[in-house]
Amino acid sequence: MTSKVGFYLRFVPEIFTFPQQYPTHDWFEQARNGNIPHAQMVVCENGGLGWLAVQRYIQTILCGSGGCGSCDVCRQHHLMVHPDVHYVFPVVGGSASVGTSDVYISEFRNYLTFNKFPLVRGWIDALDAAQKVVQISVKEAKRMGDLLHLKSHSGGYKVMLVWLPERMHESAANKLLKTLEEPEKNTVIILLTHAEEEVLGTIRSRCQTLYLPPWGNAEVEKWLIGTRKMDSIQAKILASLSAGSPGIALDFLENRERLIPLAAHFVEWMRLAFKKDLPGLQVWVDGVGGWSREQQRDFLVFSGQLLSQLTRLRHNALRGFALQWFPEVSFQPAGFAKLLTPRNILLLHKTLDDAFVDIGRNINPRLVFFDSSLLLMKAF
Ligand SMILES: [Zn+2]
Repeated sequence: MTSKVGFYLRFVPEIFTFPQQYPTHDWFEQARNGNIPHAQMVVCENGGLGWLAVQRYIQTILCGSGGCGSCDVCRQHHLMVHPDVHYVFPVVGGSASVGTSDVYISEFRNYLTFNKFPLVRGWIDALDAAQKVVQISVKEAKRMGDLLHLKSHSGGYKVMLVWLPERMHESAANKLLKTLEEPEKNTVIILLTHAEEEVLGTIRSRCQTLYLPPWGNAEVEKWLIGTRKMDSIQAKILASLSAGSPGIALDFLENRERLIPLAAHFVEWMRLAFKKDLPGLQVWVDGVGGWSREQQRDFLVFSGQLLSQLTRLRHNALRGFALQWFPEVSFQPAGFAKLLTPRNILLLHKTLDDAFVDIGRNINPRLVFFDSSLLLMKAF
């Protein structure tokens, strides 16, 4: 244990500067002036700057010198071991011994030490839970209530950071709501979400909301060249794939092998649907139907991104197409983009979105993908 702490103390965090004009500057300034709302929600895309922003904000609240970065408080906070900061995040539900964040806190710290731009799927992979339900449980809600009743160690603020409130079990959300209605003194609850519309409306309405835009393609490109020593052409492709989210860019960089089958299946799906090849589609559905639900949802999100890119390509408004990252997957994007019309592109997106929801509802995935395939055939 000592050696691990020693390692963390030697670990020099990457100094990160938020872009000029980014909303965090005002947010941190308000905190320095003591304007600290009790309940806040930060909305940011998956793999974006949200995690870093929230951590920097908490540091600003706790440190006596506005977040100096070098005092004991800042150091403890960097290591995610400050006694007045409580982390709540989705974990694998189930038996009595598991199901709350405290059981997984060391895995979580480890994941976040090396992933400053966390992805939901990255965390699920770290939990090795692709086939399981990953959520904030009812039991967690009770723990949250207990934690908020504890006295602050330092005599200052107590902070609870909830990552992914959209994955909160409904009863847990209702318990949290009660806590938000009856605020304790010097307590700050921060919800960091990537899917604002999936958070209970009554919770949303009690929070002050901060929207953080994507970092931006040009910034991600510079950052990849500067910190990953990438050549400029590769950095440009990756940045455009990431839509300005560094976590997505890193995912493409580090998990290329995992993404190849998704890319190949997208191309095959579109080809079969366009040719109206029903026997081929049946074989395709059997393949994808056997994947885990997280993989299937991942695939649908990825496919949606590719379709959006193809639409932009059709309007000559795209600087690099995602499948360029996978030269082994043969595809003619320009030819395919010509098949897209305003009418069918809506239908295609709706088909993918509906399938995403249905997979989440535990409907038989083979039925979902078969049904979607018929709709794609019709759309072309
Ligand atoms: Zn400090």
